[in-house]
This record gives sequence, structure tokens and C-alpha cells, in this order.
Amino acid sequence: MKPDDFRHQGLRRKLVDDLRAKGIADGRVLAAIGKVPRHQFIDDTAFERFAYVDQAFPIGCGQTISQPYTVAVQSELLQVKPGEKVLEIGTGCGYQTAVLCELGAKVHSIERHKPLYLSTKARLAAMGYRAYLQHGDGYKGMPLHAPFDKIIVTCGAPEVPQALVEQLRMGGILVIPVGGEGGQAMLSVVREAGGARSTRHGNFSFVPMVENKSNG
Ligand code: SAH
Repeated sequence: MKPDDFRHQGLRRKLVDDLRAKGIADGRVLAAIGKVPRHQFIDDTAFERFAYVDQAFPIGCGQTISQPYTVAVQSELLQVKPGEKVLEIGTGCGYQTAVLCELGAKVHSIERHKPLYLSTKARLAAMGYRAYLQHGDGYKGMPLHAPFDKIIVTCGAPEVPQALVEQLRMGGILVIPVGGEGGQAMLSVVREAGGARSTRHGNFSFVPMVENKSNG
């Protein structure tokens, strides 16, 4: 694994300052982002110098590592408390997974691309992050491990999948970007006795959530 030296740590502090300037106020989220060595999630050395710039990058399989600002906004909306059980849909390279681990969550994460699932499983273990990873279709959630305190979707969904709402505990929160290829609205959905209540939190651009095509 690439070392995490003083230069990386300095760049990371600068990234945290940038995120604070962009309106991220949750100190726990900023501290978590300040701890995760993002350069260790970027295999392509051509992109490594951008690791602490607030941008998204290609990570193989036609997928991307989310922009730090997006990770920060979603993590803030999720209001994770230590010990909470969190389900992530779209593990990708595992950066958001690591941030959730730093927030003290017990993370379950699902990824449809098998090569990504396998490489991320090895990477997170090597970095010392403990998360339960699964290869499969996140549209269906992870019914065997439900209910979850929180669910985060890191790909653009055409609508809110009912299965995910049903796998939240009462009062649990689902953070999900909803919309088409042109962009998505970030929704925070709270499960309540009579159904679900959702609020909007700005517009984002995610790779699409693809249903029922988990490839081997
Ligand atoms: N959480 C990542 C973001 C990865 S991009 C990060 O921190 O950078 C979104 C990921 O969602 C991609 O890896 C894509 O393969 C995955 N994805 C898309 N549709 C999915 C589905 N139905 N089930 C599981 N994963 C899915």
C-alpha cells in the first residue's frame, strides 16, 4: 500500500478546510474525512496528484470515486452515531465506506461489479477497515441483515426503491440521489409509522444505479 506521509496529511487538512468553506459544518464528518487516506483509493498514478482535490475520478469498470464534497454532504445528512448499523448501496472503491467506518458505523455495503467488490474487499481489509461487503444488486437491499438505522445510496436512482425504505427501522434515514442521467436531487427520507417523509438537499451528478444486472 502507498505510504501516508506528511505531505498527504497536509493536503488532507487543506481538503477539510475547503469542505468547511463550502458549507460542511459537521465536525465529526470533517474529522472522518481528515482521517481517511483518499490517495490509497486511487490506483491510477496519473490521478493520484488529484487525490485531495475536491473532484470525482474514474476508478475502473466505468465507475467513479465520489467527490469529497458529495461524500461529506451525504455523510452529514445521514447523521451517523457510533455503533449504528448502516447499509451502503454502491461500494465502488470503498472511500465512502471508510468514512462511515471512521464515523463509528457498523457498515454493510453492496456492489454490483464483481471485480470492484473483490478489489475493494482486499483494499479495505489491508487498510484496517472492517465492513461487511457483498456482491449483488443493491436495489433489493440486504434483507437478511435488515433493519438498518441508516441507508446511503451512492449511485443515481430513478426512484426511491421501496425495498430500501422497508429495510429501515422506524425513524431511520435513507439518503439517496434520485433522478436520471442529467442529474439527481439529493433526498433524505425518514421512515415513519404512516410511511416516509422526504426532504431535498441540492442537486448532484452520480453514475446510474443499475437494477438487477449483478455481473459475475
Ligand atoms: N461509494 C463510492 C461511489 C462509487 S460510484 C465512493 O465512495 O466513491 C457508484 C457505485 O454504485 C459503482 O461502483 C456502481 O457499480 C455501483 N452500483 C450501481 N448500481 C448498483 C446496484 N444496483 N447495486 C449495487 N451497486 C450498484
